[in-house]
Amino acid sequence: MTTTFSVHQMRAENCFAYLIVDPGTRDAALVDPRADRVVEYLHELEDRELRLRLVIETHTHADHLSGAAELRARTGAEIAMSARATSDVATRRLRDGDRVTLGRGTIEALESPGHTDDSLSLRADGTLFTGDALLIGGAGRTDFQNGSAEALYETLHKRLAGLPGDLTLYPAHDYAGRTHSTLAQERATNPLLRLTQRDQFVAALQTVEQPKPPNMDAIVSANVRGVRPSSRVTVGELADALAGPAAPLVIDVRLPAEYRAVHLEPSVLIPLDEIPRRHTELPHDRELVLVCRTGARARLAAAQLGEYPTRVLEGGLVAWQEAGRPVIEGKAHMSLERQVRVVAGTLACVGGVLAVAVSPWFGLLPAFVGAGLVYAGITDRCGMAMVLGKLPYNRRSDDTAGAGTCAAPVPAATCAASVVNVGADRKEHDERRRS
Ligand code: FE
Repeated sequence: MTTTFSVHQMRAENCFAYLIVDPGTRDAALVDPRADRVVEYLHELEDRELRLRLVIETHTHADHLSGAAELRARTGAEIAMSARATSDVATRRLRDGDRVTLGRGTIEALESPGHTDDSLSLRADGTLFTGDALLIGGAGRTDFQNGSAEALYETLHKRLAGLPGDLTLYPAHDYAGRTHSTLAQERATNPLLRLTQRDQFVAALQTVEQPKPPNMDAIVSANVRGVRPSSRVTVGELADALAGPAAPLVIDVRLPAEYRAVHLEPSVLIPLDEIPRRHTELPHDRELVLVCRTGARARLAAAQLGEYPTRVLEGGLVAWQEAGRPVIEGKAHMSLERQVRVVAGTLACVGGVLAVAVSPWFGLLPAFVGAGLVYAGITDRCGMAMVLGKLPYNRRSDDTAGAGTCAAPVPAATCAASVVNVGADRKEHDERRRS
């Protein structure tokens, strides 16, 4: 087989994006780009003197915001997705066997439903990008987004079965530090590919119960609409703006319990999961500054408020407090972070005692809790905090400290948040490279 493309893998936490390049024409495609890495991708393109022609999404992502819409806005690249995908931003719809041209070569789309109903694999030269359909040593889960264990069986054991074993496999995720595999290697070692009986395969997937990715509904809905870039505001800029004549409205998108424990003043509380229902309360004639603990949830909120003039507080409330800016602190309520520590510690202790006294299998409990805490530390998204936050104790919002409360002002509308400037992009990119 003639090789046209080179492939460059870019990891961000447990996600992979891929730059597919025709070195002869300098045309490039990006597979599964993340919104928080757009600056990095743009500089990679610039450094390699490439033209981004195409962004391809292997499926609608539920665990991270997609950078596809912003990349299209900045480069004019087409966005290709499955014809089955619900998307306001896709400009090219792919069906099984469709080929998209990139430079002197083509990339073939292979419908691969199962993880989601809009999943695609992509074959380019001797490589196969499997999205979340086939992972190294595993496969994508099938319990949300119209996923189906039966459909995944068809995909893995029939649709992909005829492909050559020497294809290099590039998945959308890996959670164990691996980077690639081959189809032959997976056929020999992947437990799900070795489960050739349909019933066993389906049972194996359906017996595993997992929590959904944090903020999944908000992420999916933002990805369907297209994630717009959100501007950022530093602590100093926000402090100055709040003291000025056109003070922005600060919206705190954390949970009520977190807000009660500490918040900046003035601010109003609209938890992230209430934004789809309550965004009409927001003014159209005033800038909105979105705040959470470190900025991750605020970026998600900004993605949902695309039509409003939003900025995200860089570093969140943590940066605000570290800068010695004033906050209002609650009294009696135990913070969500402390609640997580108490519950996690209790589960670990109970698991350890039961492992000694009853069965070693209880040892899995502290291991599970530990894995959850590591995940929360890396991603700043804590599943346990999300669950605890939904308890009635944490949902009460009548004991607000200070003037800012749940009640937000009345409607208005404004333009979308602006694109970050190129100079700032370069600085951020350079800093990321140095670190
Ligand atoms: Fe996925």
